[in-house]
Amino acid sequence: MAKAKRSVKFMCQECGYESPKWMGKCPNCGAWNQMVEMLEPTKKGRSSFTHTDEAAAAVPITKITSDNEPRFLTQMPELNRVLGGGVVQGSMVLVGGDPGIGKSTLLLQVSAQLTMTGKKSVVYLW
Ligand SMILES: [Zn+2]
Repeated sequence: MAKAKRSVKFMCQECGYESPKWMGKCPNCGAWNQMVEMLEPTKKGRSSFTHTDEAAAAVPITKITSDNEPRFLTQMPELNRVLGGGVVQGSMVLVGGDPGIGKSTLLLQVSAQLTMTGKKSVVYLW
């Protein structure tokens, strides 16, 4: 069964103005940062999205724990540092930057190192 497409809209919490894209300032009432994302119901009027009025409990940042995901280290200490201590196994990393900045070179070097040390198999897609 095909998934029903749901569109997203943004609605001003001050005046109810609706827009297909997010805006910092409501063009109708001029309020700032009042546009919130809303999921439009499917055509059948049923949606798996459920809204509750229960607010999520705020947690102090010092109480947030991070699970120690298994990581493996590349031979590039700076890359390991940027990735928070190595590459999380099974994770996906988006590498972005200006054209010609060296994204492909960096990733090919890491890939070559991983395969030469026999640690990992690499599939390189671009
Ligand atoms: Zn408004």
